[in-house]
Amino acid sequence: MADRKGKVYLVGAGPGDEELLTVKAVDIIKRADVIVYDRLVSGSILSRIPDNAEKINVGKNAGNHPVPQHEINKILINKALEGKTVVRLKGGDPFVFGRGGEELEFLHENGIPFEVVPGITSAIAAAAYAGIPVTHRDFCSSLHIITGHAKDGGSLDIDYDSLVKLKGTLIFLMSVASFPQIALGLIEAGLNPDMDAAVIENGTRANQRKFVAKLCDIPKVIEENQVQSPAIIVVGKVCALSGKLDWFSKLPLYGCNVLVTGPKKTSEKLVGQLSRLGAYVIEYPCIDTEPMDFDIDIKEYSWIIFTSSLGVQIFFKKLNEAKLDSRHLHNKKIAAVGSQTAEELLKHGICADFVPSKFDGKHLANELLRSGKITSKDKVVVFRAKDGTKELVEIFESSNISYTDVPAYTTKYIKQDKVDINNIDYITFTSESCVKGFAYSFDNAINSSKINAICIGEQTAKAARAYGMNTIISDAATVSSMVEKIVEIYCVK
Ligand code: SAH
Repeated sequence: MADRKGKVYLVGAGPGDEELLTVKAVDIIKRADVIVYDRLVSGSILSRIPDNAEKINVGKNAGNHPVPQHEINKILINKALEGKTVVRLKGGDPFVFGRGGEELEFLHENGIPFEVVPGITSAIAAAAYAGIPVTHRDFCSSLHIITGHAKDGGSLDIDYDSLVKLKGTLIFLMSVASFPQIALGLIEAGLNPDMDAAVIENGTRANQRKFVAKLCDIPKVIEENQVQSPAIIVVGKVCALSGKLDWFSKLPLYGCNVLVTGPKKTSEKLVGQLSRLGAYVIEYPCIDTEPMDFDIDIKEYSWIIFTSSLGVQIFFKKLNEAKLDSRHLHNKKIAAVGSQTAEELLKHGICADFVPSKFDGKHLANELLRSGKITSKDKVVVFRAKDGTKELVEIFESSNISYTDVPAYTTKYIKQDKVDINNIDYITFTSESCVKGFAYSFDNAINSSKINAICIGEQTAKAARAYGMNTIISDAATVSSMVEKIVEIYCVK
């Protein structure tokens, strides 16, 4: 075992939009034992790294002390010699001003096996998200990517005369600070000061900003708008297309900041849908769920009721562990509180016998009773959250229905760092516990009147109102309906 060498994968993480990771990168990240990452790898990508992988931040952050290159090399080698699968994750493409070549040379010298997974470079992607095609037959026949970073603090090493002669699209990286000097160099070498140009900050991310101006005005634009790194600067006629071809800033939720509460493993769907519509999403996993042990002889019951998809997952895991499957339920009736729970059942081959008209416990119990589907002859078992609302079972209780209430999982609150809620347009809550977990992170002291809470149902809204939040309830108790509600209200703003 000791002499089994691991391998280092030099992987490009793309420019920020999590969905611009390659399929190969996602696969390797999932298998990694150790992930060594840079500052430019976006937070949303980092939050997708499995918990069991060791994460090492070697980010070169201005104020913070960066990990020197020789230390990074040492980490890579040592981890690989321990037999580990190491992912060296870099923003964009690892070979585009990413020092990927240097790291590989070092690995080669030390006999460490490696592979490279190219990434989508910000040089091209940030422009694409700003409506700028980096080449266009009508405008240019070449494309040049240039660094504006002076090596060891010295002067810039840019051959302005050659660049101007080539008449191609010029893309400058690491050039926010040095651009006044670069613009001057280009103009002095004969480039028209009125040439189209653009600055794209945080390209492909939900907080992307784009400024289009003449080359000579770009330094002023950078200063006035306090453009920060990471940003690319594009110079060339293709920038003139940016108004016509812009699509990113036209997404319905562009500019909308949403904080998503809930257990990390279940908020993925909401985060994905919001991000795809252009929202800036902050994940806030202030609660987590833990399966509970239960021992139930299902044979006794005529109806099984599930009040969440998590309940379904836990139930079937337990069933499978006992070497049983859905056939064990062949003579049972099964109810789901809503469409998401019903969808989860379908994954296990079960088509729910009943889903209420409104997706909550109260409607579920009342409609089952009123329709005569459940009568006093039935025996009912309910799988639900230990601390969930009791409405459902209380209705059975008062109607003299024989039932067993099985707590399938508990919820615990996780203290998260406080966030500045002033910049947040909406906070999503998919359960009462999410509201309580959120308040817990703020020591129950939040200026709630500023919070627009998007709630999955009345019960959740009631909890949010108790903290003084403004509540908006989605039309249906589903994640998609919550997203539709946000689009509806944000777009009329
Ligand atoms: N390997 C990276 C580039 C590393 S150099 C790539 O292929 O994208 C760092 C520079 O990349 C930054 O200074 C900035 O100019 C650019 N950059 C990286 N990510 C960016 C982003 N999301 N938006 C705009 N520029 C970005």
